[in-house]
Amino acid sequence: MGMIHLLSEQLASQIAAGEVIERPASVVKELVENALDAGATSIHVDVRQGGRESIQVADNGRGIPAEQAELAFRRHATSKLETAADLAAIYTLGFRGEALAAIAAVSQLTMITRPVEATAGLRLVLEAGEVVSREGVGAPVGTVMAVDKLFYNMPARLKFLKTIATEKRLIDELVTKYALAYPQVGFRLTHNGRVTFQTSGNGALRGVLGQVYGAQLGRSLLEIGAVDEDGEGADEAVGETAVAVRGFVAPPGEHRANRQQITLFVNGRWVKDKSLTYAVIQAYHTFLPVGRYPIALIFIELPADEVDVNVHPTKTEVRFREPRRVFGAVQKRVRAAILAEAPVRDLGSTGMFAQLTQPRPSWRRGENVQEAFELPEAGENQRVDWGGWGTNADGALQGALGLPAAHQNAPLPMPQAGELAPRPRLDLAGEKLPIMRVVGQIGASYIITEGPEGLFLVDQHAAHERIMYEKYLAAHGQKRVVSQTLVAGTAVQLTPDQAGLLEENLPTLAALGFDVEPFGPQTFMIRAVPAFIATQDPTRLVADVVADLERGDAPTRQKVEDKIIRRVCKTASIKQGQVLSRAEMDALIQQLEACQNPHTCPHGRPTLIYLSVSQLAKEFGRT
Ligand code: ADP
Ligand code: MG
Repeated sequence: MGMIHLLSEQLASQIAAGEVIERPASVVKELVENALDAGATSIHVDVRQGGRESIQVADNGRGIPAEQAELAFRRHATSKLETAADLAAIYTLGFRGEALAAIAAVSQLTMITRPVEATAGLRLVLEAGEVVSREGVGAPVGTVMAVDKLFYNMPARLKFLKTIATEKRLIDELVTKYALAYPQVGFRLTHNGRVTFQTSGNGALRGVLGQVYGAQLGRSLLEIGAVDEDGEGADEAVGETAVAVRGFVAPPGEHRANRQQITLFVNGRWVKDKSLTYAVIQAYHTFLPVGRYPIALIFIELPADEVDVNVHPTKTEVRFREPRRVFGAVQKRVRAAILAEAPVRDLGSTGMFAQLTQPRPSWRRGENVQEAFELPEAGENQRVDWGGWGTNADGALQGALGLPAAHQNAPLPMPQAGELAPRPRLDLAGEKLPIMRVVGQIGASYIITEGPEGLFLVDQHAAHERIMYEKYLAAHGQKRVVSQTLVAGTAVQLTPDQAGLLEENLPTLAALGFDVEPFGPQTFMIRAVPAFIATQDPTRLVADVVADLERGDAPTRQKVEDKIIRRVCKTASIKQGQVLSRAEMDALIQQLEACQNPHTCPHGRPTLIYLSVSQLAKEFGRT
């Protein structure tokens, strides 16, 4: 360790920059916020190589007077805040005076700016925060910030950037969110010169909704905040605090596999807030299937002094003076919007048996109506191939994975009687299961079996997922995944960032038996799916796959494949609450025995619980 000394100005500013600017999307966020604060009505964001090469934000806002240009790039230089009292009520998106200094410190930055009263513009070039050139130029009113080679002088940070595709997606997400909150501003986003997203700026939020969520979903979104005759739905006003909640939520029939489509704005600022996200989820209580999440766009407005935005340098977190009041307002207003539209969809009871009473979804494809979870026709003595689940009446999909079922023709093995060597615990990964005899099914969810030294409770869904997973993986490994063409292709509409994500993974999907192709802006046509899942709703499946891909980051090809495989298996597997025939149970158990890793489902949950004979004896006090 050396002597204590002050950091050089350059190093200090790099460290400070690290707090504000984490990745290209943070640069876009700060520059877009500055443009909005400058009163721009048109904002053009152009990025190259996911922002790694360059990010340019051009606005028609009020510009920066030439004599203040250098000052704008100094740390803690702002025109938005003067006294400590101002900090108690912030009306602008920026206020910390950090962003420009931070961005300039870690990039090569060119600014061209011209206020309306100036006759010409100013061009300022900075490198690692130092001004390297300054000259007058002809320029329209407004500001252009061009950020090149972000983190070129911070190799450590550069290393932490994700793939171009991921960085691009984060930028897409950011711009679309701001476009939703500011429909009166025209946004244009271009990647490598190609327009990927554009709004008119005519103030019509419905139009922007259609662009971001796709025309169909955009139209179906329910509006929060329409006050009805009884005055129900009027803004929460308690004491001096009025919390206005507006926005749009999807009807309960539309849901996603993760929370990512719950978007929150507080006083025009996009924020992340676990508690308010939960308020939205709670509002949907009993409306959504277990493990599914709503789509919501929520604008919360409250007096500026009721919310502290100075929590974190990135300004994406806020603190409320009365958090419970805000939580309550969000939950109540979202719930009211759902109830107003869909009172009959409330599934009523919750808890253990709720799932059993939920109506099973069914989908219509052409004239051929298929119960989604329809059981294959199987007589008592017939074998059922669970790996090719989806076997329909004509058997066309039998063995869809092209693999022989492990026990197809084997005689039914019986448990061995007599003395047996004591066995250790059965939860070791990779350890094979003993041969088991099916005793019966309980709760239409678990299969009880008897093994040589005890009993097993098998989770039918988890077990089936495991079987499908191994077969799908094997078929994929041998490039033998059979796909089934859909008679009429179905279209799926996605948000711009989701569309980008899907597009970049189309080859992987193709290798896994999907035929999906771009079909107009943000729309894809699903032409074929893996055959063993052909009876399921393809649109929902693809939407779920995309939602899975959104989760987590920097997916390697391997990980992407695995995510898709797991989602397909989950969708195609028999569900809890499904009554199985003896033949079906036998087949399921035999195929589970044949698995490489029979003890867990692909997500790592156990497929079975084991109770040994000696444990049973102990429980009954027989030892
Ligand atoms: P903050 O936004 O917190 O004030 P910034 O570092 O982002 O801090 O910006 C510093 C100052 O530069 C702002 O307060 C504003 O006066 C000016 N500025 C930055 N971007 C723009 C822009 N696009 N148009 C006009 N003025 C701008
Ligand atoms: Mg700012």
